[in-house]
Amino acid sequence: MVGRVVVVGAGVYGAAVAASLADRGARVTVVDAGAPAGGTSGATFSWTNSCGKQPRSYHDLNVAGMAAHRRLAAQGDWYHEGGNLEWAGDAAGQRELRRKVASLLDYGYEARWLDRAGALVLEPDLDPASVPADGIAYFPREGWVEPARLIGHLLSRAVARGAEVVRDDAVTGLDVADGAVRVVRLASGRRLPVDAVVNCAGPQAAGIAELAGLALPMRNTRGVLVYTSPVAVAVSRVVHAPEVHLRPDGAGRLVLHTHQVDGAAHVSESGRTHVDPAAVDAVLAAGRELYPGLRAAAVVDVRVGERPIPGDGLPVLGRVVGLPNFHFAVSHSGATLSVHAGDLVGAEVLGEDRDDALAPFRFERFLVDLDPQQSPDDGYRAKSVERLLDPA
Ligand SMILES: Cc1cc2nc3c(=O)[nH]c(=O)nc-3n(C[C@H](O)[C@H](O)[C@H](O)COP(=O)(O)OP(=O)(O)OC[C@H]3O[C@@H](n4cnc5c(N)ncnc54)[C@H](O)[C@@H]3O)c2cc1C
Repeated sequence: MVGRVVVVGAGVYGAAVAASLADRGARVTVVDAGAPAGGTSGATFSWTNSCGKQPRSYHDLNVAGMAAHRRLAAQGDWYHEGGNLEWAGDAAGQRELRRKVASLLDYGYEARWLDRAGALVLEPDLDPASVPADGIAYFPREGWVEPARLIGHLLSRAVARGAEVVRDDAVTGLDVADGAVRVVRLASGRRLPVDAVVNCAGPQAAGIAELAGLALPMRNTRGVLVYTSPVAVAVSRVVHAPEVHLRPDGAGRLVLHTHQVDGAAHVSESGRTHVDPAAVDAVLAAGRELYPGLRAAAVVDVRVGERPIPGDGLPVLGRVVGLPNFHFAVSHSGATLSVHAGDLVGAEVLGEDRDDALAPFRFERFLVDLDPQQSPDDGYRAKSVERLLDPA
């Protein structure tokens, strides 16, 4: 029976895991090096979808994530299921979109084709000249979340059940003895004795794993989001046009993204992040081409988020075989997945076996030569680390 659990990180994953654990009666401490929602979860497009995610197990996990948001929405109004419109800019893109829609329909995912008139019924402020005559894909069950409000809700639910949230205090050490993490050490000098630890450190998850002697391969990427001032333009859903992606962001604001602008973020030697202003202007210009009413909008914020992407692109979820009181809840698409996947991980921490759902996403897939007979001791972990650092 697990009692004391430390959750490392207070982004969407940490908050979801903490709420799941606290709901089930664990004594939870959530520790964040900064503020809740101050990591990637505070700089995300947060589109809830399974729009082209492979393999099938990952698609299904995302669909379950979308359903979990729908259920949780009964407790608040941070979730917006307005659907998503997508179209392509050239023949190759159109072929690709047709392939994606056919495969999604095959999976039983909701999608349909609209013509220009149909798209304008949904988004009347689109410039008709920027929308193709037909071939517009509409995914009605997709949407977006307000991550900070979602995190606030989940953490306050956990706190109401006795959880503690520690801010501005980084996890700096994990004391491992006899095949288990015994103590979590914080930068402040505080020591937290534990029965279990959940690594929800997002892009820093590899660093937390390393404190336990585990090598988690990550290939994080940076993404740039452009936030506008409130503007009286009817944008009611996620839109993926060839030159720009955008969605509402509450109170009349919009958030815009392009793949090009991601490349305009640079980190200086002192660690400061800088985004090329011309690239930001180009994002807003692309938005104005689509919605002429955006001429009245100004850029009020530019945020750079680091996508936490495990080495093979798939989530890392659940208990580590070699260190059974250490658990992972790390992935890209965390805005979609975290409420569902965090609940699965929380249940498993407390001994509810979730192998059916978590099997494709376990840490051990990275340990290609893992000998299942080997005992979970320090030697096992050191060997695993060696293999991951030098896979050849
Ligand atoms: C540009 C962009 C667009 C995206 N778009 C989408 C999308 O449309 N749909 C979607 O589903 N997903 C999207 N994502 C991905 C999604 O946002 C992330 O998967 C999700 O936010 C990750 O949440 P997290 O809780 O794992 O990490 P985070 O939110 O980063 O939280 C981790 C926390 O851990 C803390 N931490 C780190 N190290 C320590 C330490 N040593 N001690 C204590 N605390 C520590 C950090 O301070 C941070 O608060 C996008 C991401 C980006 C960057």
